[in-house]
Amino acid sequence: MAISRRKFIEMAAAAGGLSGLSGCGSQRHSESVSTVSGITVEALERAAQEPVLQCRDITSPVIIESIQLLRKGNDYLVHVRSQDGAEGIAIPNSRVGNLYPIFNNRVAPYFIGKDARDLEEHLWGVYRFGSNYKLQGVALWCCVAWIEFAILDLLGRISNRSIARLLGGVVREKVPFYVASGHRDNSPQEEVEWFQGVIEKTGARAIKFRAGGRMSRNADSRPGRTEGLIRLSRQVLGDEIDIHADANSSYDPPRAIEIGKMLEDINAVYFEEPCPFDHLEDTKRVTEALTIPVAGGEQEFSQRRFRWTILNHGVDIVQPDLQYYGGLIRSKRVARMAALVGMPTTVHISGGFGFVYMLHFAACTPDIGRYQEFKQGMDRIASWFDPPLTSQAGALSIPTGPGVGIRDISALLKGATSFPA
Ligand SMILES: [Mg+2]
Repeated sequence: MAISRRKFIEMAAAAGGLSGLSGCGSQRHSESVSTVSGITVEALERAAQEPVLQCRDITSPVIIESIQLLRKGNDYLVHVRSQDGAEGIAIPNSRVGNLYPIFNNRVAPYFIGKDARDLEEHLWGVYRFGSNYKLQGVALWCCVAWIEFAILDLLGRISNRSIARLLGGVVREKVPFYVASGHRDNSPQEEVEWFQGVIEKTGARAIKFRAGGRMSRNADSRPGRTEGLIRLSRQVLGDEIDIHADANSSYDPPRAIEIGKMLEDINAVYFEEPCPFDHLEDTKRVTEALTIPVAGGEQEFSQRRFRWTILNHGVDIVQPDLQYYGGLIRSKRVARMAALVGMPTTVHISGGFGFVYMLHFAACTPDIGRYQEFKQGMDRIASWFDPPLTSQAGALSIPTGPGVGIRDISALLKGATSFPA
């Protein structure tokens, strides 16, 4: 425990998490770090329950008249319209292709006729609606997230504020990113060469590679690939590139600790999801045994399990996925609990457009850790924003326009058709 507590404090300090935090106050934050073991469930719960959405200055009701799921080319779109004709959109991840019956039949109907300004309360209402809680899981919460994104866009357009401003205010203007690889089937040499190309193209100063075989009970994707990649990545990319590794639930604790120590030897930034994602005790064992920060939570959908993980220091960095976990507001609640113990919240993202929601989250969340994930694909969408999104010196700009920041949603909606047809 002594090791992990020291690691915790060092990490929070390195991330700038001990000072200058809007909304939580540096003194309170420092105290909470030094007394992490004294934090109570009640204190975490109170932090989670504090209002997130700031839209009470919208004085007239914003009654939702329609919610449509659309498809245009390879993109899915969610279009929400109020009775007054205001509009908002969301661009969900590709899981729509499997989840649309839940979206259309179980989630969207709840919101019709509701006041969008009460969105925060609706996250509870939709969970109860039609006993939706019996579907509790990533499949349900993705659908809620997509509607939440669209409603936040709508409220932002009405009040002329970005989503980040609706969710507490902007605390940074640039977001340093790492580029993540999805590969597991190539050799260490091929993977490092791929990263060299991506670093050249994007200006990234940090990367994340895959370790292990993904949910593989210790088996590597290719014999020796992980050890080779750990060694070669530092050797070839040099000390100026920060390295992250993601095991996608590959290991039991003994093997995770072995791999984690190799990552410590190359001074990696963090080790993500070392053990099966829902094995909270095993993940905690690994967190306690290593000095490298352990990150996790992308598959989590329960606020109470995040609360357990934070209270029990089950990881060093929490990673709610903005779509799997049910949206920005629920993820902000996790971040508020984590902030009480000095733990960064580095959200996981899914889907090509998902990084835009990450940018809004990062813009309004004090302690996000050192780097956020970026999977590329910005070229296609940068000009949708005004000013266009940019990537410079390994950092992304943040959308500043109303809502999600897309300048002309009618252009985006043109040619979109109902899904399913
Ligand atoms: Mg991951």
